[in-house]
Amino acid sequence: MKWAIAGFAIIFALLSAPAAALAVSALEPARTVVVDAGHGGMDGGVTGVNTGVKESDLNLVMAKLLGEYLESGGFDVVYTRRTSGGLYKEGDVNKKSADMHRRAEIISRADPVAVVSIHMNTFFQKSRRGAQVFFDPSSAKGESLALAVQEELNRTFNLPDAGRGFSPLGADKFILQQSSAPSVIVECGFLSNPSDEAHLLDADYRARFAYSIFVAIAAYLSSEA
Ligand SMILES: [Zn+2]
Repeated sequence: MKWAIAGFAIIFALLSAPAAALAVSALEPARTVVVDAGHGGMDGGVTGVNTGVKESDLNLVMAKLLGEYLESGGFDVVYTRRTSGGLYKEGDVNKKSADMHRRAEIISRADPVAVVSIHMNTFFQKSRRGAQVFFDPSSAKGESLALAVQEELNRTFNLPDAGRGFSPLGADKFILQQSSAPSVIVECGFLSNPSDEAHLLDADYRARFAYSIFVAIAAYLSSEA
């Protein structure tokens, strides 16, 4: 009986799917990337040294740009948030915890091929600058994706702008531990550094930066396929 129900469900799905979409999906299953804009709502993250811009706002803009590039590259994109609000409810006692667990639920349900969390960095020394990528130390695939993204960002931004590249770093972070798919955090630059802050406030720079992340992810995933 279970099989009969399952069979009926599949036939119904086939009948209701557009023929073109069916042809594509039969050859190439949809590949979903979760794009996570860090912080939001009452948690603005770090702030810009000169302008006071909120990390949560820049994360959202960068996340949407990255998502658009991924969609144009044929990926399905699931965002953890698409507005400036957090993912908690007003009645939640611990809003930060509720927010993070909601992100975990979204990642789990998406069954993604990769997870990319977008953040902006800060450091007490204002001179520190550049893009830094993090991965979960227990995930070899996460480390590989982090290396791919870091090398691309080194080539396109860190070496020309800051004069030095970085190695990706292992980090014990909740958002990196919610999927068996490779997961990375991209800290796009230091809002404590005036030059990085000015760059990240520039729409053209952000578009080029998001494109670099996209290029690295797409190249990594195609090499894995
Ligand atoms: Zn952050």
